[in-house]
Amino acid sequence: MRSDVANFTLAAPPSLRALLAHLAAEPGEHALLAGGTELMVALNTGRLATRSLISIQHLRELRFIRAESDAVHIGAGTTFTDIRRNEVISSELPLLVQAASWTGSIANQNRGTLGGNICNASPAADAPPALLAYDATVKLVSIRGERTLPYSEFHLGYKRTALQPDELLHTITVPRAYSGWRQYIRKVGTRNAQAISKTALAAVARVEDDVLREIRIGAASLADRPLRCVATEQTLRGRSLAGGSIEATIRAARAALAREAKPIDDIRSTAMYRSAVAENLLEEFVRSLVR
Ligand SMILES: Cc1cc2nc3c(=O)[nH]c(=O)nc-3n(C[C@H](O)[C@H](O)[C@H](O)COP(=O)(O)OP(=O)(O)OC[C@H]3O[C@@H](n4cnc5c(N)ncnc54)[C@H](O)[C@@H]3O)c2cc1C
Repeated sequence: MRSDVANFTLAAPPSLRALLAHLAAEPGEHALLAGGTELMVALNTGRLATRSLISIQHLRELRFIRAESDAVHIGAGTTFTDIRRNEVISSELPLLVQAASWTGSIANQNRGTLGGNICNASPAADAPPALLAYDATVKLVSIRGERTLPYSEFHLGYKRTALQPDELLHTITVPRAYSGWRQYIRKVGTRNAQAISKTALAAVARVEDDVLREIRIGAASLADRPLRCVATEQTLRGRSLAGGSIEATIRAARAALAREAKPIDDIRSTAMYRSAVAENLLEEFVRSLVR
């Protein structure tokens, strides 16, 4: 049943500190509203568990992109349009820019935030595979202080995250470490635009002397959460890409991903299709590494 907005309250604390105090006073009683592109759909369709919304959209403290020598720090309130327009991200972190450009429409990208995409915790979301491949970290804050986690430890299950009820996601940090690495991202959906992925794969790799020295892989819709494919990475590290070895490397890659993936059947696709397509994407990437 559709909800009546008159039944909801909306607060807009003047600062991050005031917001955190608000959350600490009544932990778990409020929903944070960033761009609202996900939350307003839930509200409209009567799926919101709370009647109390707190806007964080106006908080300048959460909307920034700061490039330092070793990392790019992105405030959770940064929109996909901000990301697409940033020069450092565009030149060094193309997977994130590509993911941003896939997220819904231009209107979604103007309002939708990176923090909202992550905290909404959909296994099909566009930014997580890129952030997993880039080995991002996330800073969570509350009135009690702050803590930093590898992003790969943020998603705990279907729509479950490491956020405590009084915490919010503050910053996503991506290392500036990928110069000379090979980078890959591909989303497979019903259409090229305005479609949630059936599956998607992002990966980065460092190749030396025809050997796969390092590889990181993030995937969408291959599990109950955005999946960092750690076991597949381990299988591939140190493998040869030279001459006759490439076919064995690809067989190992496909088999490892098939074991690690735990996709589901749902309205968008089937588990079997998702696994097969993800294996094809990984194969495409590994083949592209051969010079
Ligand atoms: C038409 C349409 C098309 C879409 N297409 C795509 C698509 O192609 N790909 C895709 O990935 N997504 C898509 N989405 C989903 C959505 O637009 C994105 O996930 C977007 O990034 C959400 O960001 P937001 O700022 O609007 O989040 P909101 O709706 O404001 O919030 C989403 C959730 O995150 C929580 N939250 C937000 N910020 C924080 C924070 N800093 N700390 C803690 N919790 C927080 C909110 O409380 C809420 O639970 C689409 C949505 C619509 C309506």
